[in-house]
Amino acid sequence: QKPVPSDIVISRSCVPKSIDHLAREVGLLSDEVELYGKTKAKVQLSIMKRMQAQPDGKYVVVTGITPTPLGEGKSTTTIGLVQALGAHMKLNVFACVRQPSQGPTFGIKGGAAGGGYSQVIPMEEFNLHLTGDIHAITAANNLVAAAIDARIFHESTQTDKALYNRLVPLSGGERKFSPIQINRLKKRFTRFARLDMDPSSVTWQRVLDTNDRFLRKITIGQSPTEKGYTREAQFDITVASEIMAVLALTSSLEDMRQRLTKMVVATSRSGDPITTEDLGVSGALAVLMKDAIKPNLMQTLEGNPVFVHAGPFANIAHGNSSILADKIALKLVGPEGFVVTEAGFGADIGMEKFFNIKCRYSGLRPHVVVLVATVRALKMHGGGPTVSAGMPLPKEYINENLELLEKGCSNMRKQIENAQHFGVPVVVAVNGFKTDTETELDLVCKMAKAAGAFDAVHCSHWAEGGAGAVALGQAVQRASETPSKFKFLYDLELPIADKIRIIAQKIYGADDIELLPEAQHKVELYTKQGFGSLPICMAKTHLSLSHEADKKGVPTGFILPIRDIRASVGLWFSFPAGWHDADDPRSAHQALFL
Ligand code: ADP
Repeated sequence: QKPVPSDIVISRSCVPKSIDHLAREVGLLSDEVELYGKTKAKVQLSIMKRMQAQPDGKYVVVTGITPTPLGEGKSTTTIGLVQALGAHMKLNVFACVRQPSQGPTFGIKGGAAGGGYSQVIPMEEFNLHLTGDIHAITAANNLVAAAIDARIFHESTQTDKALYNRLVPLSGGERKFSPIQINRLKKRFTRFARLDMDPSSVTWQRVLDTNDRFLRKITIGQSPTEKGYTREAQFDITVASEIMAVLALTSSLEDMRQRLTKMVVATSRSGDPITTEDLGVSGALAVLMKDAIKPNLMQTLEGNPVFVHAGPFANIAHGNSSILADKIALKLVGPEGFVVTEAGFGADIGMEKFFNIKCRYSGLRPHVVVLVATVRALKMHGGGPTVSAGMPLPKEYINENLELLEKGCSNMRKQIENAQHFGVPVVVAVNGFKTDTETELDLVCKMAKAAGAFDAVHCSHWAEGGAGAVALGQAVQRASETPSKFKFLYDLELPIADKIRIIAQKIYGADDIELLPEAQHKVELYTKQGFGSLPICMAKTHLSLSHEADKKGVPTGFILPIRDIRASVGLWFSFPAGWHDADDPRSAHQALFL
């Protein structure tokens, strides 16, 4: 077999179709498409109204076993599967994926366009600026951050009258409003003239899309003009911004506007939540985000359509691409077509959040889960040595080793069970590497079927493109015909701690949870503030089913510590953080969050 060239060489060797041609092919009208050069376009949301009556296609989510730090090929499999279904099985298809962050792109992991002969092209366009959505989020997020500190400063240094005069122009300028609006504004700012924010309660951070570790903790306000009002603050990676998650979960422009008003940024000294609306910036946020809300159209190496939209991380956010892109794609492919989307990291994180958060808000019900497994990751779960980027693979991973592999299949078995909690059929895709033997690949398939997978196949789409994933495509097509028995894992009305416990016990295999004092305080605060019935978005390492990255396989006998909880009211979920993984090189930037 010929060696497979590097991802970038493959990407550059292919001439993409012009994007307006692809847009016509998938049924978009010319006035629904905004071209950004020859290889990218944005799609207007008006299409949702035009296609309202069209039945949806089949909905497939790609997830994985607990990965090594190198990634096991979920993005590659998402694209390979779409190429198989579209270019080889001649079905209508769409891939819906996340826009990568520059943090991992310039880090150890690299971009997220897929790999080998299963990629989104052109790779540089996909991995870097795309159409500026991440930049828009950075601008919007940092506007809120600036407004918070300016507000704390002015409230501390100015009289009520001076404050009022300053705040009214901040909300857009009086002259732009009708008399009724001006009156409303005046009332609001009279009533809310002083937010009395407790600076130590600010949960909103500044963001940038660069992995700049020296900004993880900073002291702000050091210029003499700030008169000594300094405080400790931090920078997160942009994709961790609540605004990124809002973009991913929103269902329309109006819904996004609403969510952008409700984001809680701090608490007042009397214990009331303070929102972006209170700060008077929510209108500006909606304007900054007005183009970012439109999904971006690109293509696979084999010319199939791809929506690239939103990019929250799966361990510190919900880790799924946008609901809007999925909804539009499901209409465009029609009832016999397939939309394949990807949930970040392992099934315990991205997939759990895909079901319990994304599907809860979208109302969409997936037909099939594709669980990506690799021989190398399973060997690691069976006790193989640590695998890290840039280091040669230890011999256990190069030579056949059925013993390690069979032992490590316990992790796959648990992740199959995790998918089955939601009542959706699971097809295991064994992503073949050149060091894998046929016997090893067959063993994984046998173990997957014994664990209750609908089917399990090995695939070679990395080396061969869509042709290498036709067996996977056929298995997915068959699985999609089984009747849906979809159910959520927990009821929203349960108390916050019970919802966290259900996820910890059923998905991670924990014996119990332990709410540390800060988390206990937040449970009481948020329950009192009326945020108790939000879904849960856990922050946890992706490298283990437990909260400790070095515990492989299926860890048992552990208590999951919950250190803190944050309410993301604009998203309608609350955010328990049980983990701080500063030493994980793949996620160094993620430690910025906690
Ligand atoms: P994930 O989405 O699970 O993080 P990716 O699809 O991004 O993983 O793949 C991670 C890296 O592994 C990419 O550089 C990709 O080219 C490479 N890769 C994926 N599958 C294979 C394979 N079968 N053989 C060799 N390299 C692969």
